[in-house]
Amino acid sequence: MANGVYEMMRGLWQTFKSAWTKPITIQYPEEKRMVSKRFRGRHVLKRYNNGLEKCIGCSLCAAACPADAIFVESSEQTDDIRFSPGERYASTYEINYLRCIFCGLCEDACPTEAIILEDNYELSFENRESAIYTKDFLLEAVTEPNQPTPQKVQPGVYTRSVPVMQDPGE
Ligand code: SF4
Ligand code: SF4
Repeated sequence: MANGVYEMMRGLWQTFKSAWTKPITIQYPEEKRMVSKRFRGRHVLKRYNNGLEKCIGCSLCAAACPADAIFVESSEQTDDIRFSPGERYASTYEINYLRCIFCGLCEDACPTEAIILEDNYELSFENRESAIYTKDFLLEAVTEPNQPTPQKVQPGVYTRSVPVMQDPGE
């Protein structure tokens, strides 16, 4: 009997203590959870500081992908209609998120650091078609005062896939 009362009092004490502690529940979607630096969320196709796309359509990411989730089609370009430095650019870039396992191998394989898995975890689809994210959706927005792609650039400046810039990693 005494043991039962003791256990009941212990339980009530726990309830009383919890009533005064700050709740740890996150009120999603109004409140977003911070993710770790190593988190791998939705991919983003990056740009250089001048607005040109980092992706050169080489398909190394597609070759490295163990889930066969990436489809890349590249096309040639000129200085009048330029998307990326170098000879070619990705005219089609698609990722099938029904296949992707967020392993990050595509990011590791990319020679220009064009494809990065960032912190967006809000992925939902209504059908199979909407699970395929196209380049329009994956490409990061251009920042002012840069121009979106395609750009008309000075002839002969961009002749390398990784351009000579002060900090090509940016
Ligand atoms: S994260 Fe992995 S599975 Fe997803 S697209 Fe990249 S390589 Fe493929
Ligand atoms: S994202 Fe990188 S690896 Fe993939 S096609 Fe573009 S440049 Fe090549």
